[in-house]
Amino acid sequence: MAKVLIVEDEETLARNLADKLRGEGFVVLTAADGEDGLDKLRGEHPDLIVLDIMLPKLDGLSLCRIIRRDAATAHIPIIMLTARGTEVDKIVGLESGADDYVVKPFGLGEFLARVRAVMRRAPGRPALQDELISNDLRLSLTGRRLFKDGKERKLSNKEFDLLAELMRNRGVVLSRDLILTKVWGYDYFVDKRTVDVHIRWLREKIEDDPSNPKRIVTVRGVGYRFEG
Ligand code: CA
Repeated sequence: MAKVLIVEDEETLARNLADKLRGEGFVVLTAADGEDGLDKLRGEHPDLIVLDIMLPKLDGLSLCRIIRRDAATAHIPIIMLTARGTEVDKIVGLESGADDYVVKPFGLGEFLARVRAVMRRAPGRPALQDELISNDLRLSLTGRRLFKDGKERKLSNKEFDLLAELMRNRGVVLSRDLILTKVWGYDYFVDKRTVDVHIRWLREKIEDDPSNPKRIVTVRGVGYRFEG
């Protein structure tokens, strides 16, 4: 799995970016200031760095130059985040050695597209996991489509996210609380029974016999486990 280091002092933004990347199968580390970013960078050897420009202690442009000067880190792709959208700042960002930049505010979809593009260009980087496969099921993560026996089964957004979470953790029991947090998000209040309802809908799409599920197994009093 590719490892991404996010250096960003805006806590909510850092968390949203981290959640988005984790949802796509990345391992994510975060640092809230430039010095912590430098420590984590040297200790953890990330495959990609997402770097804010305005940071406490050590700003993003200085950190970017340090990364590029050090032979151990010079090859790591960097995406800069900037709130300052003028051309001059963009050029400064690229001259400092960044591979790409995103101007705040930006959408998570655009951000993810930039991450994928930069990772594709980077030589020798681990491939992104694009598909989850289990017997006759194939879940395309980039296309957000499910195929069973080669035939597409339409999923809602939440059904897709739920199935991806289950398939990524195959063999592991996921509690309803954990599923709510991962699929519906930290700040979203939904009844735990919502999980059960979505599991039922999913079973109708992926189980040979939805009344006797073999793929998504209920673990009584705890939650659900994907068997594949
Ligand atoms: Ca900042």
